[in-house]
Order: sequence, then structure tokens, then C-alpha cells
Amino acid sequence: MLLTDSNQFSTKMQVQVLTTGPFDQTFTYSTEGAGVTRGQVVMVPFGRREILGVVWSISENSTFEGTVKDIGTILPFQLPETSLDFIYWVANYTLIPLGSVLKMVLALPPAEFLKVLKKPEELPTPAYSFDHTVTLSVEQQQASYAIIQGAKTFIPFVLDGVTGSGKTEVYLNAIEHVLKNQGQALVLLPEIALTNEWLERFKRRFGFEPQLWHSNVTVKNKRQTWQQVLKDQPVVVVGARSALFLPFQNLQLIIVDEEHDDSYKQQEQNHYHARDMAVVRARLSEIPIVLASATPALETMSNIDKGKYHPLILKGRFAEATLPLVEIVDMRGQSRNQWLSAPLVTNIRQCLSNQEQVLLFLNRRGYAPLTLCRGCGHRFLCPGCSVWLVQHKHKGQLSCHHCGFTQNLPPVCPTCQTEDSFVACGPGVERIEEAVRKTFPSARIQVVTSDQLSTPKAIQTIIDDIKNFKIDILIGTQVLAKGHHFPLLTLVGILDADLGLNGGDLRASEKTYQLLHQVSGRAGREQKQGRVVLQTYHPDHPLFLSVQNHRRDDFYACELHQRQAQQFPPYGYLAAIVVSGLDEMTVERYAKTLARLAPNADNVTVLGPVPAPLARVKSRYRWRFLLKSSQAMALQPFLKLWLSHPSLKKATGSVRVSVDIDPYSFM
Ligand SMILES: [Zn+2]
Ligand SMILES: [Zn+2]
Repeated sequence: MLLTDSNQFSTKMQVQVLTTGPFDQTFTYSTEGAGVTRGQVVMVPFGRREILGVVWSISENSTFEGTVKDIGTILPFQLPETSLDFIYWVANYTLIPLGSVLKMVLALPPAEFLKVLKKPEELPTPAYSFDHTVTLSVEQQQASYAIIQGAKTFIPFVLDGVTGSGKTEVYLNAIEHVLKNQGQALVLLPEIALTNEWLERFKRRFGFEPQLWHSNVTVKNKRQTWQQVLKDQPVVVVGARSALFLPFQNLQLIIVDEEHDDSYKQQEQNHYHARDMAVVRARLSEIPIVLASATPALETMSNIDKGKYHPLILKGRFAEATLPLVEIVDMRGQSRNQWLSAPLVTNIRQCLSNQEQVLLFLNRRGYAPLTLCRGCGHRFLCPGCSVWLVQHKHKGQLSCHHCGFTQNLPPVCPTCQTEDSFVACGPGVERIEEAVRKTFPSARIQVVTSDQLSTPKAIQTIIDDIKNFKIDILIGTQVLAKGHHFPLLTLVGILDADLGLNGGDLRASEKTYQLLHQVSGRAGREQKQGRVVLQTYHPDHPLFLSVQNHRRDDFYACELHQRQAQQFPPYGYLAAIVVSGLDEMTVERYAKTLARLAPNADNVTVLGPVPAPLARVKSRYRWRFLLKSSQAMALQPFLKLWLSHPSLKKATGSVRVSVDIDPYSFM
């Protein structure tokens, strides 16, 4: 179906269409629609079906010799030029195929576009009212003013302040300014931080609900939001990383809250870092962007040092008074299987008698990370992954936290047939719960992990229970570390502060620091003095001393120094290649062939291939390469050249080659 007047005389012209297929190229189509220009959203025949695409360019001369198919349907949407530039930039940087990036921009299934074509949709227009009952402090006003002054200019701001210093009010104030200018704003938040509390605050401030964009939003709402941003309606979109790709017509401000958060890095399939890409988006649109955090990423800190990012520091009115007292407990003297040290137990007891709340933090779900047979040493391994199964005692199950494989804990050992011979090794939160119940039998205890917090409603229920003092002791994984304010919570016990430090990740210290800083920040605030008990086998580790003494910037300086010495990010650039497949030999052979074909370049070092630390996941064997360069944008052309080597056979069968620029996972 064509939207042209059939009586009108028209000649066919050829256009290059970028489809949503995973290709890094455009395809030639013809059209009679004389008005078709770059950015037009279309449906085109592709193989046996029709797929979405966008007109990428108009061919000057119809030089294409092969059979040229007509565009199937011209849809009533035109992507703005900045969106097209953004697609190109993201693809070029991340090496995600252009078509796959376009798919993230179009974001909806073809049927939704056809629905709108058939029957244009009336879109709700948000009505604002601005509430100014919250008074900003002088430093908040100054920070907000700086952002507002930066309008229509590309300036990356780093809004740096502890939890409770009022970062949100600063950026909401800047958003008000955008709305008054009939502009659009985008707030990226880690999904877990997008709570009712946050939304209520937004509603109070602006009198309307923002457009939400994340995995739980209905297709209908997404369809409306997609059209609203394209139609230049003054809206505020709040969402997880994928919201970044929406085709905003008049984007005037981007906020990346909790900018250090790992969830901004897409770890699966198409690897990209939403914070970094958001900065690019802001640059292409020539608008300010605000990266907010109490513990900015080292990359961000180094960009401040280089003068690329502009810091806005909030000290907070009460920040000094409410820093928690941190006690480091040396666990080396503890007897085995004693997860709660004497100082921690004393502190919990004190806290309970004061009618205050305790958070015990352990970043490990389940009962025990390893289960083995006392008789023969049999260990329960995942059949599809090279990891141990985690025991979940409540459910009587063993599960794999990588692929979800689950089995019941058998009554006898599968190897030696001994009954009741299993020993649980190491603690998970369930085991801590067991120990706490034994020591504090009358306390009201709640375990909180992603198992319990699977829906927003479940999250809200637990938050309400904490606030209404229906819980004395919370035992949780990192999901509790973010964004909630609990006035009665005065004690935080970090059960195994060393946990994140193992495992060969160059960001291990940084992540541990950020996590401990945030978890510690749960203790106290307002009038009550907070306490943190940090249990470790490395009591002299400089990282823990920095946490204890609240010397964040010392830790950063030291960590940056080490990264520099090793030429690691932010002082060098990395990329990873993972070759994976169902057959071990084929994967190894392919990886080794790939290694032989690596181009030579002075500024790129190729390490590997080696079997990945996680040598097998979901039945797929994995080999890794790590590429290093001291030069920006040197790895991308190198990888392109390498992976398109004429002697390299395309990966076939189950073998897949995945490229990750700026990797965050090294497993
Ligand atoms: Zn056995
Ligand atoms: Zn598994």
C-alpha cells in the first residue's frame, strides 16, 4: 500500500533502506513516493516477510543493477536527524550492527506501527502544575542554576553528593525549566531505583506522571510514549537504559541517576554502556547531561580531572553529622561456620533494645554456594554451566544462578548413595537468617533478595513494612543498597566485605567500594547516629580503611593511580571477544583460527584466546580474547578488519562470536 496519489505522474526513485535486521548495511528499494526523505519509517519486503526499516539515503542515480523491490508501506513517522546520527555513532563505536541499533530506536513490533497507520491515535497531553513547597538550599540552587544556564549547549555535569544531599531536587528543578520551554527531558534510572517513592515525588513536583519506559511497561503505553517523544510533546521520560534510544524530537536535558550503576552496561547480546552513549546523545543534540551519583564511576572522575566533565558538588546540610561510625572486624580469629562476629551480635542486641532496625548485608542468594558429600566429596555442579549449584534450603532445591537450572536436593548422594551426607559450604542469606533466628529468636526477620522482590508491588510491600516498623532485622543482597530512606535503620552489618574482591575483575575494588559506601549510607541519617560493622579477612585493606574513614577521594586517587600504571580504563581501552558454541572442540578451533588471523597493529595488544573463567554457560563452551589499546577508537577499526578477514570462515552452526567494547565482565 502506498500513500501516493495514483493519478499523479511520478517516476520511481531508488532509496537505501536500513532495516531492523542484524545487518551493518542498507538495502536498495524503489519507491514512487516523491516526498520520501531520509528518516522515513517504512515496511519493506525482506525475504518472505515484511520488516521495519528507515530510509537511510536517497540514491542520486538509480545505479543498482539487480532486482529492486518496492517499499511495502510508508508509515506516518519520520525519525529526526539526531536519531539517525545517534544510530550511526552507536553502531560505529560498539560494533553493534546498524540494523540492530535501529531496532532499539523503533522499539515496537511492526504490528504496533500498522495499528497507528490504520487508525491514528489520540495522544494524551500532560498538564503541568509546578509545586515549589520544597525549598532548595543555596548549593542546590547553584547546581540547578548551572544546569539551567547550560541549556542548548553540550555540557556534561557530574552531580556529586552523598545520599540525602538532595541531588534529585536539583535535577527536578532543571527539568521544570525544560518543561517551561516546551522541551523534553529524559531521566535514566536503574530499574530497581524507580520506586513508587520516586514517582510520588515526581508527581507532587509536576502534577503529572512521567512516561515510564522499561521492561514492565505495556506495549500500549510504549506506543504512546514513542509517538509523544517523536511529536515534540513536552514530556519527561523516565526509564531504564533502553529509553535512551527513543526518537526524541526536542530533547533538552538528560539525567543519568546512579550513573556508576552496573545495570547501565548491557551485558547480553548487544553490548553497550547507556551512560556513555547518553553522553554521546547529549553531544549530538547539543544539550546538557547530568550524571548523578554519591560514588561516581572512575571513568567519570577521570573525565572531571581531564576537564571534560563539570563537577557540581553537594555537601548536604546534615551530611557531616550523619556519617556512620564504621567498625572493621577481623574475621580471621572466628571459628568456622560462625557468620556473625561478637561485635556484630553486641551491636544488633543494642539496636534491638533501642527499638531500631538492622540491615545485614550479604551479596549472595540462597543458603549455601556449594553443597558437597561428606562421604565421597561429590559436588553438585550445574549440568549446563561450569559452576556449582547454590542450595536453596527453604525450597529444598539446588539451583544454578547463571542459567536457572534447578533440581531437588536428593535424599542420597548420587555418587556413593550415602544418606544425609551433604554439607553446605559457605553462607548465603538464608543461612544467615538461620543463624540470626537462633541468636535473636524473638526478632522479626525478613530476607530480601531478588527472589522476594520480583514485582514492584512486592518491593513496595517490603519498603512499607520497614517504614512501619514491622521488621527488626533485614537480611538482604545488594538490591537493598539503593535509594530508600529508612529513618529507624541505624545499624548495617556487612557480613563478607571481601566477597566482591575475588574474581579478577579490574573494577572489583571500585565496585566493592561503591557498594560498601552505599550500603553503609543506609545506616543513620536524620537525628540518629548510624553504625556499620564490616566483617573482613583483610582488615588492613586500604579500601576498607577508606570506607571506615570516609575518605572517598583518597580511595579514588589510589585506584586511579593503579589503573594508570596498568594502562587499564580510564587510561586505556579494552574490548573483549567471546567465542562460544555447543561443541568444545569446534569453539577452541575457531578461537585459535581467529587468533592466527589477527592483524598487526602497533597500538593494539591481543591477549588470548583462553578458555573463559566461566568456561561453560547454558551448555555453551566459551573462549575469550582481551584487546588492549592506549588509543581511543583504535580497537574498533582493528576489530572490523580482523573479523572481516577474507580467510575467516563465518561462524557456523552453534558457534557465535560476540564483541564487547569497554567490557565490564571478564568472566
Ligand atoms: Zn557421596
Ligand atoms: Zn547453569
